[in-house]
Amino acid sequence: MYKKLFIPGPTHVRDEILQAQAAPMIGHRAPEYAELQREVTPKLQKMLYTEQRVFLFASSSTGVMEGAIRQASNTRMLNAVCGAFSKRWHDITAANGVPCDAVEVPMGQATTPELIDEALSKGDYDALTVVLNETSTGLTNPVPEIAERVRKKYPDVLILVDAVSAMAGIKIPFDEWGIDVCLAGVQKCFALPPGLAVCAVSERAMERSKQVANSGYYFDYWVNDKYYQRGQTPATPAVSLIQALNAQMDAILTEGLEKRWTRHEAMAKKVRAWAKKNFRLYSDERYLSNTVTNVENVREIDVVALNNALGERGAVISNGYGSLKGKCFRIAHMGDLTIQDIEWLLGQIDDILGL
Ligand code: PLP
Repeated sequence: MYKKLFIPGPTHVRDEILQAQAAPMIGHRAPEYAELQREVTPKLQKMLYTEQRVFLFASSSTGVMEGAIRQASNTRMLNAVCGAFSKRWHDITAANGVPCDAVEVPMGQATTPELIDEALSKGDYDALTVVLNETSTGLTNPVPEIAERVRKKYPDVLILVDAVSAMAGIKIPFDEWGIDVCLAGVQKCFALPPGLAVCAVSERAMERSKQVANSGYYFDYWVNDKYYQRGQTPATPAVSLIQALNAQMDAILTEGLEKRWTRHEAMAKKVRAWAKKNFRLYSDERYLSNTVTNVENVREIDVVALNNALGERGAVISNGYGSLKGKCFRIAHMGDLTIQDIEWLLGQIDDILGL
């Protein structure tokens, strides 16, 4: 049976978008492809409130995170950790042999500007990684405030932002925040099938890339820029996904950016109110995510049984992530889901659990 996805990626993909993905193939060195890339890029720039480069990579987000790590630092990198995905930045940095330290807060808590300030003051850092929306805990870090502090006090520190479960769901004014790399896979708030990643890169990050030895090839910003300038990518792009992305960006801009951000907020509020009434919210309430809610399982329900019952009714939610399995469950409210979808889902859960 078809199940509507209320999980934090991949998310529900509308039929029109699946159809756009099935458009006839075009050659990636043909003028039609350059036209396509030149059409879609300004739409992405508009969504990120920037005119700086926005690259497309045939990759999951993790690949682009690794690429970012390889061309950001000549001295030492600071990785802000507040859950499983921000921890991934740290693991990738260490695995690439880049000198680094983690500054960690317990799960459910946010990384604050004060914490970052204190950590940066202690070492010779030239780059910082942070997750905007920590999918494992349902928390959104105060990235604008962090960036403001870093830009002012540590102008040489590049700010690399994992916006995987936030981009296209919450407002990210790339230039105004003064961040340097901001990336996301399209399988979450973009509501597309997986396999394509979007990455905005600042001039500062471009310059740094030039100065770093062994910056790699596939994700190297300058290798990509050479082709970007002619509406292409150096290697074969995910043409079908880019065709779908182009259609989806039209839909996003037609909905209206502010309306899209408000819809996500409204869905989040609905889920939070329900969670507070029936369970408990896991993360610090000052930093709750507008795209995914992590519900603490204070009733000790059987999350797997709940999901099985939901499956029979055509929906699926997520268990808690990693060590939070069984102790929490997550409801995603991102992408093209509507407030009606959320009301329907919560009604089903109420019915199954007798709430
Ligand atoms: N970062 C965050 C915040 C995520 O939620 C995820 C996936 O859920 C990733 C990174 C990894 O993304 P991918 O599986 O596309 O590599």
